[in-house]
This record gives sequence, structure tokens and C-alpha cells, in this order.
Amino acid sequence: MGINPFDVAKKQIDIVAEEMGLDANLTKYLKRIERSLIVSIPIVMDDGDLEIFEGYRIHHSTVRGPGKGGIRYSPEVTLDEVKALATWMTWKCSLLNLPLGGAKGGVCVDPRQLSKKELERLTRRYTSEIINFIGPDIDIPAPDVNTNAQIMSWMMDVYSMQKGRSVPGVVTGKPVEIGGSVGREPATGMGLYYVIEAMCEKLNFDLKSQTIVIQGFGNVGGTIAEFLYKEGCKTIAVSDISGALYSPEGLDIEKLLEWTKKGNYLKDYKDKNYSLITNEEILTTKCDILIPAALENQITQKNANNIRCKIILEGANGPVTTEADNILFSKGIYVIPDILANGGGVCVSYFEYVQDIRAYFWELDRINKELKKILLKAFEEVYALSKERKIKLRTAAYIIAVSRIAKAIELRGIFP
Ligand code: NAD
Repeated sequence: MGINPFDVAKKQIDIVAEEMGLDANLTKYLKRIERSLIVSIPIVMDDGDLEIFEGYRIHHSTVRGPGKGGIRYSPEVTLDEVKALATWMTWKCSLLNLPLGGAKGGVCVDPRQLSKKELERLTRRYTSEIINFIGPDIDIPAPDVNTNAQIMSWMMDVYSMQKGRSVPGVVTGKPVEIGGSVGREPATGMGLYYVIEAMCEKLNFDLKSQTIVIQGFGNVGGTIAEFLYKEGCKTIAVSDISGALYSPEGLDIEKLLEWTKKGNYLKDYKDKNYSLITNEEILTTKCDILIPAALENQITQKNANNIRCKIILEGANGPVTTEADNILFSKGIYVIPDILANGGGVCVSYFEYVQDIRAYFWELDRINKELKKILLKAFEEVYALSKERKIKLRTAAYIIAVSRIAKAIELRGIFP
């Protein structure tokens, strides 16, 4: 059986609770999921057959504000995976000091097996099933693995039709034409770039001369790859679900993005200087900066000892297990945790939500400036605390995030 991500999420709470000397009752409270909704989604397929899919929406904590978190479509989605992802969203929003809580959703489906019309019907029915769980004051979904701006448009439409008016603030990651924000799509990759730049500065590394490996070549992996490529950094391996391409001389990221954006797989890209390796091999490829940007539980106690890099920048949520984290720490590898590293996405989602509610839209320059300000503030706090206490960056990030949640719970009290 695979590693249960929610077990990992709960273990992380235990680790930080011990480090902080947190009250046992509060620790118990932090591990609790506020609300879980399981829905069944019947879809009439194009051939007339009926298929039934299972979907989820989870609120881990709304103590500091409405829930915020993406929606994932994948055949590997489980209730516990969504619970873990919702829990991580609580810490991420808190670390960035956004007035939002942690939520997540998912549907157990392989969207590549669906036609566009089937995907639309699935999205519309799923939205309708979770409609009382979401809303600008309740919980605001966004894109995640295998979901995008088009899916957010359908979600906004279903919600708005039921309310009888346009409600753009119900989801973020929408196209700009219907209330989306400029800068949202590349925001996670942009944030990763700001954070790795700051980290290299702290360590006196010249970012441009570092070799890079990226697992996952979608929104997050593809965007950070593009930013690094434009800055002149050498990315020697990238992967998608089909496999990985490797070249010690560096890959032409622009050409690869052109290829994958047409719906092609990396494994089918032909270049005599590139070799095809597996998704397992890519993680242990020698490099300076390793960016896991696909799924959780990729670096575990099985492969952590074989990781050969100086910094891991967590683009994905939960790519490193707690056991692997300890091994990497003992090897002197810096792990920049997901809740800090990939926070750019939720940060600009927050800006989109604020713009929708105020019906006043910002310029890209303002978005990027404010994004950088929020991320670098969090980075400095995390880095300083990790140095001061000689602890992992992850533990430092969790101490800051959990302290804010704990304070909010203390101030509000436990109802009744
Ligand atoms: P995406 O669907 O755009 O891309 C996912 C990439 O991972 C694709 O290249 C896909 O082929 C690859 N992949 C999928 N399954 C794989 C597997 N089993 N092994 C290897 N590769 C696999 O998704 P995304 O939005 O880029 O999200 C990637 C990660 O980043 C997820 O963990 C997500 O939760 C996290 N994240 C996303 C955002 C965002 O704004 N999109 C923000 C923060 C964190």
C-alpha cells in the first residue's frame, strides 16, 4: 500500500507540536477536518452510457477566513489525499498571512479519457453537488492538477446561474475576460522563482550557474522551467507523466513547452542529444536544484539517500515524506517547503478574489510587486527562524503558520 498523504500531514503537525511545546488538546484540534463532503457525479457519456465518478470537497480550517484551495482531477484522487491537501492549504495561507483558511477538492477521474463535452458535464455536475459548500464567503476553489481556467469558467457559470447573478468571486484562476486576474496563471512558478532567488542569495550561490532538474512539466513545473530558462539557467532534466528527458548540456525549455502545450508527451519528443529516463531516475539525477512539481510522496525513505542536489524547491504539495525530510536534513540538503515555495499561486488567487469582490482590477506590475513582497516577507521569517533554532526550513515554516492558527483558535474559543 502507498503512503497515505493525510498520515504525512498529521505527522507534520506532531513534529511541529513537539518543537513548539503545543498543548495536546490544541494538537488534536489542528488534526481535525472541519467538514468533508463526498459526492457522486453521474455523467451520461457521449456514447449514451452512464458513468459515476466520486468527488470531494474538504474544509480543514476556516478559523482565519473562508476556505481556499484547488480542485484536482486525477484517477489517483482519494478522500485522504484531499484531506492532506486541504490541511496544507491552511498552513500555506497562514504562513503568508492571508485571511483565508484551508480547503481542497478533487474528483477521481482520468480527464484524458473524457471528451470536452463530458469534462464540461462532469465539472458542472460536480459544482452543483458541492454548491452549498462553496461561495465567496465560504470557500473559493482554484485550479490544481488537471484543472484549468476553462474548468473554473464552467464552475463560476454554474454557481452564478443558481444565484441568478454573476458571482466571479466564487472561484479563482478564471480567464481575465470573466474576472480573472492578470498574472494568476504563472503565479506559482513566479513565486518559486522569487523564493529560489532569495535562497541562493542567502547561500551565496549564483543562481545562473546552478544545474536544475524538474519533475512535472505542467502549470507549476513548466512555468518555473521557463523563468529559469529565460534567466539563463541550465535545466538538465524535466519530466511529465510519460517519462523524463535528460541532457547534461541543458534542455531547450522553450521548444519542449511548445511541444507539450500542443498536448504531446515528453517521451515522444525527438532530439538525438536527449536521453529518455524514468520518473524515478529523474529524482536521483545529480544537480544543484531539484524541483519536484508533480505529485505528493515522490521523495520517500526509499530514495532520499540517493538524492544528489543542494536544494529541493517544493513546487508540488507534499512531495517529500517526513522520513525523507529527516534523511535530507542529515545530508545537509536544504528543502524549501511547499507551503512557502509554491505559495505564489494562492497569493495571486487571493488578489483575484479581492479584485472580484471590489470589482476593481490591478495592473500586472502591482500583482507581481505585491506577490514578491508577501513571499519574501514569509521567506525571511522562515529562514531567520530556521537559523536561530537550527531547525529545518519546513519546521520553521510550520511554527509560524501553526502559531497564527493556534492564536486564532484561542481568541475565538471552541464553540459552544
Ligand atoms: P498540472 O496538471 O498542470 O501538471 C502536473 C504535471 O505533473 C504534468 O506534467 C503531469 O504530466 C505530471 N504528472 C502527473 N502525474 C504524474 C506522475 N504520476 N508522475 C510524474 N509526473 C506526473 O498540475 P500543476 O497545477 O502544475 O500542479 C503540480 C503540483 O503543484 C501539484 O502538487 C499541485 O498541488 C501543486 N500546486 C499547484 C499550484 C497551481 O497554481 N497550479 C499551486 C501550488 C501548488
